[in-house]
Amino acid sequence: MLLVEKYGGTSLANPERIRSAARRTAELARQGHQVVLVVSAQADTTDELIAAAARVNCHGSAREMDAYLAAGEQMSAGLVAMAVEALGHPAVSLSGWQAGIHTDGVHGNARILEVDTTRIRRELEAGKVVVAAGFQGIGPEGDVTTLGRGGSDTTAVALAAWLGADQCRIFTDVDGVYDRDPHVFPDAVRFRRIGYENMLSLIEGGAQVLHDRSVELARDHGIRVEVLSAFTGAPGTILGDLS
Ligand code: ASP
Ligand code: MG
Repeated sequence: MLLVEKYGGTSLANPERIRSAARRTAELARQGHQVVLVVSAQADTTDELIAAAARVNCHGSAREMDAYLAAGEQMSAGLVAMAVEALGHPAVSLSGWQAGIHTDGVHGNARILEVDTTRIRRELEAGKVVVAAGFQGIGPEGDVTTLGRGGSDTTAVALAAWLGADQCRIFTDVDGVYDRDPHVFPDAVRFRRIGYENMLSLIEGGAQVLHDRSVELARDHGIRVEVLSAFTGAPGTILGDLS
């Protein structure tokens, strides 16, 4: 099967967590699956980069902010690929443009228009685990773009859609989608399944578990997405049509 698996920033926050994601991935690859990982910048990296940029120029252009912020995900991708290699399995990290993610030119909030999957398919065919940097693509002028905060989810769903993946999983720091923020409300209730429109309403109400455009893309392409904990790996919430 072709699997797209996304790891968020907290799920890659330190070397042990990176190794744990790599172990899961190498095991899937050993079972004969083709695996495309999508990774976020580690932990608070993006916030730190934004703060660092503001110390140089608090009105930096959107183009240069994108060029700078995209580095966070690229560092994660390189690290995760090295962690997979350390387990004896070949891996290759790809930035957004290398992964064929074509976007519009709206720096800081770019929309994915198309994915050219040629390079990813070639690497998969060569037996490699592909580690794609989330949150970024290339715009019509050939410049690096970013997809908006939380946009790595959208990278994962887009890759699943254009690759025709058999499964799309989003690993995060909660064990699924709740009716309220489980970090704040201990009595929040977890959904086993949730439809696209309900998920979009939750996001409109402030839920941050998924990037809104990832849900729209999943709905438009009919992609089922599982949201689950990177720490337990226990079954999470299935986003999809409830029929
Ligand atoms: N690193 C980016 C952010 O913090 C994108 C993401 O994590 O999805 O918003
Ligand atoms: Mg997120």
